[in-house]
Amino acid sequence: MTATATKTRIMSGMRPTGRLHLGHYFGALLNWLEYQDKYDSYFSIVDWHALTTKYQDVKGIGGSIREIALDWLSVGINPEVSTIYVQSAIPEIAELHLLLSMITPQGWVEREPTLKDMVKMLAGDETEAQEKVTYGLLGYPVLMTSDILAFRAGLVPVGKDQQSHLEFARDIAKRFNHLYGAQYFPEPHPKFTDTPLLKGLDGQKMGKSYNNDIKLADSPEDVLKKVKQAITDRTRIARADPGHTDLCEVPWPMYKIFAPQLTDQVKNECESAVIGCVDCKTRLAGTVNDFLAPIREKRASFEKDPETVNKILKYGNDKARAVARETLAGVKDLMGLSRWV
Ligand code: SF4
Repeated sequence: MTATATKTRIMSGMRPTGRLHLGHYFGALLNWLEYQDKYDSYFSIVDWHALTTKYQDVKGIGGSIREIALDWLSVGINPEVSTIYVQSAIPEIAELHLLLSMITPQGWVEREPTLKDMVKMLAGDETEAQEKVTYGLLGYPVLMTSDILAFRAGLVPVGKDQQSHLEFARDIAKRFNHLYGAQYFPEPHPKFTDTPLLKGLDGQKMGKSYNNDIKLADSPEDVLKKVKQAITDRTRIARADPGHTDLCEVPWPMYKIFAPQLTDQVKNECESAVIGCVDCKTRLAGTVNDFLAPIREKRASFEKDPETVNKILKYGNDKARAVARETLAGVKDLMGLSRWV
């Protein structure tokens, strides 16, 4: 396997909370496929992050790490060029988290908007908040910063609404460099992602916890069943009523993503009531299944060969660990922790 050290390094991760869906594909993985040819790409399965909110329900985490690795490999993340690793296999990230927490002002953590959202999501009232919001969750922005800085990544993919994540990491990098008089950490820059918005089957944001997703590993039968449940044009009551693609909440936007070559035909057939929504969604499911077929095939070949997946993860973990170890050694030196030797 070859290293790509001269390219700008990019770092991103996903929590192991279950199999990935099409929203992950169009929201992140599609970009990763492009990045892996351009940048020195580090992709992390961030299992410690899963514990910040799922610490009471840990039985699925190990299996999910494997599922995510399979999903990444099946869509074409190439371990020959990208470094695929598991966060908890790199203890240097945890040590860096501890050291960076020493220089992180409390107010910076409390102001982090993502953290505020997570606290709101977890806790209904103040008493619940006291129990559910843990010290680990409060430290989540510092852990995320450590994920980035351990690899001295120059770029981090973010959506426009997630800019604050990265501002936090940049501020910590700048503070570290200022405190210890060294340009040690590069300031990570945002790599803004611009992706088509793929809605869940109910018209809301696609998410595994909303039960409105299509998984990358779903069978053709499951895809058909799910697509048939998609919300269409709510004003179209009877089969003979003309439909309105601009009011069609889920199938029409999906056609634009999965079968742009069919959109003129679909629009004509829908708006002249030549086709009913059931038939239209059945055809759409076929295009989604065509799209997923090679992904399923690749997944099946990796599922049959668990040893190769183990080797890929071990190779990625070792490579990532060597980089993080070097970063940490420099941090400890600058923070005075190696000077007693
Ligand atoms: Fe949507 Fe197709 Fe129904 Fe038109 S016919 S409303 S495009 S599902």
